[in-house]
Amino acid sequence: MQKIFKPLVIAAFLFTILIGCSSDCEEEIGFDIAERVIVLGLDGFSVEGFNTAKHPNLDRLLKDGTLSLTTRSVMPSVTLPNWTSHMTGSGPEQHGANGNDWTLDKHPLPPIEQDDYGYYPSIFKLLKEQYSDAKTAYYYNWGNLINPINQKYLDEISFQENDEYIENYKKAEAFAIKHKNDPTLIFLYSVHTDHAGHNYKWMSPEYITAIEEADVKIGDFIDGLKQAGIYDDTHFFLITDHGGIGKGHGGMSPNEMLVPWAVTGPGINKDAKLTDPNFNTNTAMVIARLFGCEKIPKSWIGQVPESIFEVDD
Ligand SMILES: [Zn+2]
Repeated sequence: MQKIFKPLVIAAFLFTILIGCSSDCEEEIGFDIAERVIVLGLDGFSVEGFNTAKHPNLDRLLKDGTLSLTTRSVMPSVTLPNWTSHMTGSGPEQHGANGNDWTLDKHPLPPIEQDDYGYYPSIFKLLKEQYSDAKTAYYYNWGNLINPINQKYLDEISFQENDEYIENYKKAEAFAIKHKNDPTLIFLYSVHTDHAGHNYKWMSPEYITAIEEADVKIGDFIDGLKQAGIYDDTHFFLITDHGGIGKGHGGMSPNEMLVPWAVTGPGINKDAKLTDPNFNTNTAMVIARLFGCEKIPKSWIGQVPESIFEVDD
């Protein structure tokens, strides 16, 4: 009798401590800490493209959150500097990823802050250091994208070739469900939209079709999470790196520099527009806030646009 009883008492004691800590932490930051964050990334997704393409699945997702159509890219308006900025709460002046050919071994400007391996601190590192049970995943189909991210902080990495992305969506869904009880950050990206712009022009029928195809896959993905019962407590981001004009990007026109940016989920204003200034450098900072991450690197410059949050009456 005593043998069974003792472990139960210890378990109950530990449970009380854990619950106590959790609610204390949540009280300090003023809201419930995020269960999981899923970042949906579509490369080269311009505001014009957003306003023209039909995306009923994105629309139903965005009803559960706040959308900005005036977020600014970092300069230059090219891919690697901007995705690195999203994931590191910083601009090229801090992380040093100034172009698509940046590698850990070859770059003109070292990161202003770096880990033992030479990488600038990413949101994946922050989350892993905040929670020992955190799970992180990175799904991509443009090879260079992962170069500035220290893979040591990623539990699952999946790369698809030739602009394919459907398998990655399936893997991301399985990963989210498998780890539904752990703090989870999933980066789910596709470059096929950008490539349609380069091949056929931004705003060409092919480019619009690429966005609409992604919308269908995002719809399937969301439905999978709903069926698994984990949609309602998930925060989603919809982000991109830059827009485009003609068959390119990299310049300073609004078509290239202004992008859609959205966040949805518990505690976020529903069916709302963000009109405050916002930047691609803010994404990781918002994720850090949602997860209650305490150790923000001193070099991060991103800010949290506070008006995205619901205010208690
Ligand atoms: Zn791009």
